[in-house]
Amino acid sequence: VIERIHPDKDVDGFHPYNVGRLAQRIPRLRPCTPFGVIELLKSVGETFYGRNAVVVGASNHVGRPMALELLHAGAIVTVTHRFTKDLAADVGAGDIVVVAAGKPGLVKGEWIKPGATVIDVGINRVTDATVARALFGAESPRLADFDKRGGVIVGDVHPEVAAVAGALTPVPGGVGPLTIAMLLKNTVAAAQARTATG
Ligand code: NAD
Repeated sequence: VIERIHPDKDVDGFHPYNVGRLAQRIPRLRPCTPFGVIELLKSVGETFYGRNAVVVGASNHVGRPMALELLHAGAIVTVTHRFTKDLAADVGAGDIVVVAAGKPGLVKGEWIKPGATVIDVGINRVTDATVARALFGAESPRLADFDKRGGVIVGDVHPEVAAVAGALTPVPGGVGPLTIAMLLKNTVAAAQARTATG
């Protein structure tokens, strides 16, 4: 279906032409979530050259284009996925860790290199009170959300990672709004390119 959209109007950045341009280091319309993550990392002065970046998840929408973005930025990139044998060891080598697996609390605090920058892309709704308590601890104010709404939104990174990481994006309110911002940025860029070419 994506091939039916003209690449110049592909503001999601998912068309094979646009993904191909990213792979060849001549990006035009870039997949919004990885684009937002790179913009976020650059905005806080993150450096990439010679640094280990680990991506957890290899989907077409997030993990793969994220790896291309990080490679393009100069990082040494490891991509992990459901067949990865020792995820803890791979994640532990990361100076920058981007997690997009769709598994609540998958990445644990003890896996993280102290001081690493951790980007939690995951958005998962947990409706099991036992799971929510195990993730946040029985005293967490986040459990009030659960009681009010019958569920709570959690990332793919366990909350305990906050104590080890140098920086960690929140869920909700971290990468999600950034994705929307990049979608708007792509939309403006696509409109300007059309105007420029008549
Ligand atoms: P997906 O299901 O298409 O891909 C998940 C990937 O994670 C796969 O490559 C799979 O191999 C890998 N994976 C699954 N279990 C794993 C494990 N135990 N260890 C290592 N890798 C594992 O999902 P997606 O579309 O990439 O989305 C991932 C998460 O990101 C979801 O929670 C989704 O809701 C969220 N998401 C958020 C945004 C945002 O704007 N913040 C945008 C897109 C997706």
